[in-house]
This record gives sequence, C-alpha cells and structure tokens, in this order.
Amino acid sequence: MRTSEIAKRYLDYFAKHDHLVVPSASLISPNPTTLFTIAGMVPFIPYLMGEQTPPKHRMASNQKCVRTLDIDEVGKTTRHGTFFQMLGNFSFGDYFKEEAIHYAWELLTTPQDKGGYGFDPEKLWMTTFTDDEEARSMWKNEGVDPEHIQIMGMEDNFWTTGGPGPGGPCSEIYVDRGPAYGVEGGPIADENRYIEIWDLVFENYEVDNVKSKTDLHIVGELEHKNIDTGAGLERLAYLMQGKQNIYETDEVFPVIEAAERLSGLKYGEDAAADVKFRVVADHVRSALMIMSDGVRPSNVGRGYVLRRLLRRTVQAMRVLGVTDPVIPELLPVSKEAMAPSYPELNDTFHDVSEAAYGEEDAFRRTLENGIQILDVAVRKAKETKDPVVSGTDAFTLHDTYGFPIELTLEMAADQGVKVDEAKFRELMNEQKSRARADALKKRHNVDLNVYDDFKKTLAKPIDFLGYTDMSARAR
Ligand code: ATP
Repeated sequence: MRTSEIAKRYLDYFAKHDHLVVPSASLISPNPTTLFTIAGMVPFIPYLMGEQTPPKHRMASNQKCVRTLDIDEVGKTTRHGTFFQMLGNFSFGDYFKEEAIHYAWELLTTPQDKGGYGFDPEKLWMTTFTDDEEARSMWKNEGVDPEHIQIMGMEDNFWTTGGPGPGGPCSEIYVDRGPAYGVEGGPIADENRYIEIWDLVFENYEVDNVKSKTDLHIVGELEHKNIDTGAGLERLAYLMQGKQNIYETDEVFPVIEAAERLSGLKYGEDAAADVKFRVVADHVRSALMIMSDGVRPSNVGRGYVLRRLLRRTVQAMRVLGVTDPVIPELLPVSKEAMAPSYPELNDTFHDVSEAAYGEEDAFRRTLENGIQILDVAVRKAKETKDPVVSGTDAFTLHDTYGFPIELTLEMAADQGVKVDEAKFRELMNEQKSRARADALKKRHNVDLNVYDDFKKTLAKPIDFLGYTDMSARAR
C-alpha cells in the first residue's frame, strides 16, 4: 500500500467516526519555542489548553513534521527521519481513553480489504504507564494478549507540555518485526525489533511545578479531558510495504535510486555507504519540504538547519564519490515523489530549486577553498596513534576558509578522525574576547574624538542674541 493511501485510510477512518479532517499546518512552527512543527498536536495547542474553541471537538490531520533532534539517528536507525508525517486524531473534551484505544486497535487490525491496515494482532505490543491499570484493562478488552502489554514509568509514558498545564499518561503501540531483528521480550527489551508506530496520550490531569518528567505535581483531574495521538506515517509505510526502514518507502526511495545512478554504486552492498544513501534521501526531502514552506538557507535558526541539510547531502554524496553538483539531480526526484501528496510543491518548485542550487554552488566554493587544508589536517592526525584534528586546524578552517565546525566534525568523522573541539571552542572564545576588546577600544576612541570636537566648539565665545533677536528662539 502506498504511503499516500495509508494516510488516506487513516483520515477516512476518523472522518467516518465524526472527526473534522484538516490539512497539515506549515512546518514553520506557530510556537515560538520551537523552530519547526515537531508533532501533530502543535497546531492544536490552543484547543488542548482550552484557550480557543475548536471548530469541532473531534479532529484529525496528517501533519508535516521536522525534528532536528533526531538528525544523528538518520540513516543509522530504521525509523528516524528529519522530516516525517504524523497522523493524529484529537478529542478536545469529547471522547476519552476507551474510544481512543478502540479506534487505534480497530484501524490497525481490520483487514486491508475492509479499509484497515491489516496488522496481525499477534505482532502488536503496547506500553502503558505504571499507574494506568485502566488502559491495560481496556487493551485486554479489545483482545490484546496480556503478555503484550508492558508497563513503563514516568520518563517514558507520562506526557506534559514541559510546564504547568495539561498532562497525563500515554500508551504506545509497537510492531514486532520478528526474531531476525533482535531479542524477544517486547519494546522494553528491544526498540529496534519492536518499532513504535503510534502514541496515544490521555490528557486527564492538570499539572504544575514541573521540574522534570519525573518531578512534578499533579493538581487534579482536568474538567475537559483531551486525547492527542500521533502515528508515524513513514513507520507504518515501511512495515506495511515489507521494507527494511523508512528510507526505502515509496516517497523516499526514488532519491536513493537517483543517488545510485549518480555514484555508480549499489545500495545494499556496503553498510557505511548505505547510511550515506539514506542520509541523502532523508535530507533532500526535508530540505524540499522546509523550503516549500518558505524557509531559505541562512546562518541562523531555520535557515541554518536547512543549510546544514543541504550541505550534509552534498557532503554525503562526495563520500559516495560524486563531486559534480548533485542537488539539481536529486531535488526534482524528491519533488516528483512527494507532489502527489503535496501538489503545492509544483508551484513552489521553481523558486525552491533556484535557491537550493545557489546554496550548493556557494558550498562547493567553500569546499574548494578548505578541502585541501582539511585533508592535510586529517593526514597529519592519522599519523598519530589517536587521530584527532587539532583545534588550531579546525579554527583556521573556520576563520579563514568558512568551514563551520559541524562541517569539519562531519568530514573528519567520514574519515574516521575526531576533532579537538574543546581547543577549537577555546580559540573561538579568545577570538570573541579580542573582537569585543577591539570594539570597546574603537568606541572609546570615537567618543573621545567627538568629545574633543565638542569641546573645541564650546571653547569659542558664544554670542547670546536672545535679548535683541527674538527669532533666535525659533532657530
Ligand atoms: P522514538 O522514541 O521512536 O524516537 P518518539 O517517542 O519520539 O519516537 P513520539 O514523539 O511519540 O515519538 O511521536 C509519535 C509518533 O511519531 C511515533 O510513534 C513515531 O511513529 C513517529 N515518529 C516520531 N519521531 C519520528 C521520526 N524522527 N521519524 C519518523 N517518525 C517519527
């Protein structure tokens, strides 16, 4: 089943159960504390907090998300994308735990020819919060094998906003990929064999004094209890399409195929190269989606995240042996794969691609300047027992050749070499202090000069005309 069909089934299912289906909000988060929309619930926060009245008390969406927190996992685990789509059904003071559990179970286990996802109930596992006996008994009532219901603590299975407000236990649903993928014993034992697909949050408490996930005060029960759920579309897709990971699904894999053609290498033959193929496919898609929502490369905030995604793509392709421009080859492929679900990509692509190609050109110039210096530094490091690029070399690369430290770190890591980051930071701080001192000196000089001129003016005798020339007042 194609990814778009999996999304459609979800939204159709919840529409049938009286949910208002709304389109995805932008990736640019409306919440000032995060750069991007990181979960399906983000656009619904005012409804969940009771600050605004929702257009309907049951809603559902397929929300575009970006999580930069997961960037180092990309390509290495089977399940983390920087961009991904989160399906979600929400109840704002309407249905609660029992219905949320029932809906999830029904959609997952109904056969595909009857509109569901057709997961084998024997392969589904749940985690529940320590105190949430109620959720455990509800899962059992649905027919879940009691052995497949595990208990987890506050850290994993209790949700809060991070501050005072709604909070509550959650229950996560996992799919067992089978003994070939790890040890038995449920998600508690092995999160790579048992893949988390859906998280159901039961917001029934008001909490305050939230010092950490495990140190908070439950004020009492909320008057209006909410349901907030999130299911990873790419994770559902990879499991339902019988693939090994999210990067091999229909909306992502075409970029891997394009990278194979460009590099002349085959995906699936070398573990280290495969990670790079997956990074490329993930990052190209994330860059495309972020740019389509209006972000452009820059040195701050979202623009910097985007810049890193594009640069990491170029860099990963270099490791695969491709030194010619790659973005003009890869970006249109990702656009073709995503446009059936996001037709607006066809309208934004002209501007998006121009900006992305320009960014690659600029990066290639940076690389041309610094790459030999880096190669020498890496070679020098490799001659020692514990190969580390010196902080001084990393600083020169930054200061003279415009290599951000992340780039030096990543390029050195590609060659199995570390970087003395502590020394680099020390040199950066020294440079900053020097610059501050210079600026201060300059400011004082300027002040003094101005003051000198002022004094000279004052030294001249001033003729007071006020008694004789009344118009002087108006001057
Ligand atoms: P994990 O622990 O596996 O990283 P999570 O606990 O951070 O996942 P939630 O915040 O509960 O995930 O998000 C809800 C759902 O969204 C998850 O069950 C998963 O299916 C999906 N999801 C979360 N992060 C990612 C990601 N980086 N890439 C793809 N899907 C994701």
